[in-house]
Amino acid sequence: MSTGDNMLRILEPLPESLVYHYRPDALRALYNNLLRERLSWYYSVLFNEKPAKFLIARRIEAPLDPYDTSISLGELWQVHDKLALEHRRLWLDIREDRENIRMDEPEPKFTYLDVKIAIAKRIMESCELCEWRCKANRASGKIGVCRVANECMVYSFFHHIGEEAPLVPSGTIFYGGCPFRCVFCQNWEISQVVTRDYIKVTPRTLASIQENLARTGARNINHVGGEPTPQIPFILESLKYLNVNIAQLWNSDMHMTPEAMKLIKDIIDIWLPDFKYGNDECGRRLSKVKNYFSVSARNHIEAYEEGLGDMIIRHLVLPNHIECCTRPVLEWLSKNIPRAVLNLMDQYHPDYQVLKEPERYKDIARRLTRREFEEARRIARSLGYTIIVEDLLLYEY
Ligand code: SF4
Repeated sequence: MSTGDNMLRILEPLPESLVYHYRPDALRALYNNLLRERLSWYYSVLFNEKPAKFLIARRIEAPLDPYDTSISLGELWQVHDKLALEHRRLWLDIREDRENIRMDEPEPKFTYLDVKIAIAKRIMESCELCEWRCKANRASGKIGVCRVANECMVYSFFHHIGEEAPLVPSGTIFYGGCPFRCVFCQNWEISQVVTRDYIKVTPRTLASIQENLARTGARNINHVGGEPTPQIPFILESLKYLNVNIAQLWNSDMHMTPEAMKLIKDIIDIWLPDFKYGNDECGRRLSKVKNYFSVSARNHIEAYEEGLGDMIIRHLVLPNHIECCTRPVLEWLSKNIPRAVLNLMDQYHPDYQVLKEPERYKDIARRLTRREFEEARRIARSLGYTIIVEDLLLYEY
């Protein structure tokens, strides 16, 4: 560890003129002071002023071989939690310019990242990565409720230009499977009905995919699905082989267990969570999960505190759900995550089960009205939120 500015940077960004051609607001977002202040860590990695958090984790030496199977899971967690404090201190020092790391120095044989990988692999033997806690022995090939076993299923990866302006072009990787059963899922062909159209990738290949996306101009690596949570073991391992300084983005329903959060929270540079429902009943009826609100709230707070504010929170406004979902979600966010940027989304349309059983899901069997979306925006504005309005390609402050 040393001070210095010899950061590894292999990114070759897309020419600005090209980004400008697709999304003028993506270019503007680079120079927007408010976004740069709210997403300061993300921007510092994007501009190669700071190393992504996974690279910091690879500089912290583990005091043992975490892959040694004679070490219990409890002992591994003890080591993890000690190293987490070290990682936090080093990250804060780097963030405040008190320290830096040299990327040309050799890494320790076993690192904090290795400890995370070893723990994630152990958890796969009785999986409890999401709050289903279905305990599937995925390590031996059993499929969990999320429909994922011991293969990392990638359906597609590309430069996504439809994400929020600060993220575009976003190096997006779509994984198969999902612990949620959203009746209106627009990605149901990969999340709910896992077909053989995916490619099975090893962690090394997953690292190559990320490196390729980064070298060709992606501003970040956007892990999404379905849902990325079941893929945590493979994603963590891929970061061992990734030698590009690029921000890691978690695009998620945030239904991870506290154990899964501990594994990822200090390697994610920017969060893109989806806060859907303002109560548990809507979560149970429309996504078939328990305790939706308390789990989502807990994980949002955890991510917010860990990242010191680098979050863009999505809320998809559902027809007939302004009072039960939009209002309580926005009120809760304004009290608990006030510095996050909000993307209020108006693009809901009936899909999947809602199309098959419109009578059963009558409340959401139509598109949003303009009046409903205006009401959602009015609520957000009255709470003082910084909003990205994606469709209009502009920001509101
Ligand atoms: S991630 Fe999948 S296998 Fe693991 S607990 Fe959740 S549903 Fe079960």
